[in-house]
Amino acid sequence: MSLVLEDLRAGYGDIPVLHGVSLEVREGEVVALLGRNGAGKTTLIKAAMGLVRTFSGRVRYGGVDLTPLPPFRRALKGLGYVPDDRRIFPELTVRENLLVAARPGPWNLEKVYDLLPRLREIQHRRGGLLSGGEQQMLTIARTLMTNPRLLLLDEPTEGLAPLLVEEIAHLVRSLKGEGMPILLAEQNLRFTGAVADRAYVLETGEVRLEGRMADLLEREEVAALLSL
Ligand code: ATP
Repeated sequence: MSLVLEDLRAGYGDIPVLHGVSLEVREGEVVALLGRNGAGKTTLIKAAMGLVRTFSGRVRYGGVDLTPLPPFRRALKGLGYVPDDRRIFPELTVRENLLVAARPGPWNLEKVYDLLPRLREIQHRRGGLLSGGEQQMLTIARTLMTNPRLLLLDEPTEGLAPLLVEEIAHLVRSLKGEGMPILLAEQNLRFTGAVADRAYVLETGEVRLEGRMADLLEREEVAALLSL
């Protein structure tokens, strides 16, 4: 079950942002999507989920062509999307935020609480009262409740203090341990270095570099492609 993007051109209105991007996320892999602000990371994650306009190219998952399918059908095929703007329900409790997303499968309230014990502690707190880190945990947990087979994670460490970034890294490694493949858009090179197996570096909507994360960290071009 690989997620494969083939020569994808996608964007907003009539304006393409991705100019022919190809990549693959294989079974059990954590793959990072690196690039500076505006490189197209969020657009690529959204294009995989069907949330932006696709002009040409293909998105396949497990050999099935998802390109013509709307986002909810891609979710039913196994893609789980974690947006960067979190979008939790502020009036609902943590528990209710999780339950509204629930679909049958191995991930249920207990399993999610076991993975993220902090959420069990604050399960009766309203979403609007959570800290940034707690909101990020809840956003990921809510997507897990939909029982996806692959996660699309958009900038999970954005705006988080270093200690919380560590917690998210721990969470990503635990999910990898559970066999969950993850495509991760990120600017934080240290974080991705700690969790990703492979990475693609985007610049202006094209893949400039790709390879094993450990190898990419050795290459000077990577720092240059990520600097402002
Ligand atoms: P960031 O870290 O800032 O989110 P990114 O690598 O995720 O960066 P994208 O958000 O994918 O980059 O943006 C890529 C390009 O698409 C940018 O030039 C941006 O201005 C443009 N863009 C993003 N969202 C829209 C939109 N809703 N309508 C039109 N253009 C957009």
